[in-house]
Amino acid sequence: MSHNCIFCKIIKGEIPCTKIYEDPEVLAFMDIGPVVKGHTLVIPKAHHNPLMDTPPEILQKLITVVQTIARAQKKGLEADGVNVSQANGAAAGQVVPHIHFHVIPRFTTDGFHGNWIPKKYDSLGEMQDYADRIRKALD
Ligand code: AMP
Ligand code: ZN
Repeated sequence: MSHNCIFCKIIKGEIPCTKIYEDPEVLAFMDIGPVVKGHTLVIPKAHHNPLMDTPPEILQKLITVVQTIARAQKKGLEADGVNVSQANGAAAGQVVPHIHFHVIPRFTTDGFHGNWIPKKYDSLGEMQDYADRIRKALD
C-alpha cells in the first residue's frame, strides 16, 4: 500500500467507489470521469506502478479481469466494441500512479475519437445503473 495513493485508499475503503468485481488480488470499479459511460477501471489491490515494474503474475490476473469486464460491457451494455487503455508516467497522460487498465465500452454513436474528455453521469443513480448492467453480465 502507498499512503498517498488514491487507489490504495479506495482499496482500503477510505474513499468510496462503485464496485463491479473483486477478488483477493484485483478490483474493478466505475471511473468517476468516464470518457464513455460505463468506463471501468481494473487495478491490483497491491500497489504497483508502472507497467514496466509490475510482476508478470499480477499482469496476468489484471488482463484476465479486463477480459471479463470487456465481455460484460459488450453483453450488459450492448456495447458495439471495447477499448482497453493503460498509461505509464505523466508524459503518457497517467494521473494516478497505481497501475490501472481503462476498459471503455464503445458505441457507434458515442463520439469518442480518443479525445480524453471526462464526462459526468447525470446522477449517482445513473452510474449505479450502468454498474448494475455490467455486474449482471459478469460470467
Ligand atoms: P490515468 O489518467 O490513466 O491515471 O487515469 C486515472 C483515472 O482515474 C481517470 O480516468 C479518473 O477519472 C479516475 N479516477 C480518479 N479518481 C477516481 C475515483 N475516486 N474514483 C473513480 N475513478 C477515479
Ligand atoms: Zn496505490
